[in-house]
Amino acid sequence: MIGAKFRQLVYGLAHAPVTVGYPLEPRVPDPSFRGRLTVDTGRCVGCGGCADVCPCRCVTLTDVSPARRVIRRHLDRCVMCGRCVDACAYGALALVPDWELATRDRGDLFVEQDLYMGVCDRCGRCYVPPHPLDRLRGTGMRIDEPALLDGDGARAAGGGT
Ligand code: SF4
Ligand code: SF4
Repeated sequence: MIGAKFRQLVYGLAHAPVTVGYPLEPRVPDPSFRGRLTVDTGRCVGCGGCADVCPCRCVTLTDVSPARRVIRRHLDRCVMCGRCVDACAYGALALVPDWELATRDRGDLFVEQDLYMGVCDRCGRCYVPPHPLDRLRGTGMRIDEPALLDGDGARAAGGGT
């Protein structure tokens, strides 16, 4: 018994510690580590592809008006599988190597986006405009000087046909 303890003592003194220093020292994961989900709101067009593929139903889409879509992401449910990142054709999502997500407030892991969408003239539902500039011509744009717009834009601003 005492001999075994002595051998352990000798082994411990002869070798460097095998445990990590965290939390006293920062623990930096590999750059490819899949951690917190981030959203580049400037790239997101609100297509809903990420909501379709998420196995945990972290992402919800709500069309609060014909031209306004709200996307809510409940990251406290996210399992960092990366399916939404693969599905996003606009490169708006990424899983960054940040894994310290513990919090007392679940609201810290909640992301809400408010998007103005193009609206179908026939059915009135939101759709993804083919080009970001097309969004500026749709409902929801604030137009102070309609005269500066060309024919189509001026008609939209004035509510004409
Ligand atoms: S798939 Fe990409 S562009 Fe579409 S709603 Fe999700 S984050 Fe936005
Ligand atoms: S990483 Fe996976 S679980 Fe998390 S939001 Fe994307 S699809 Fe859902």
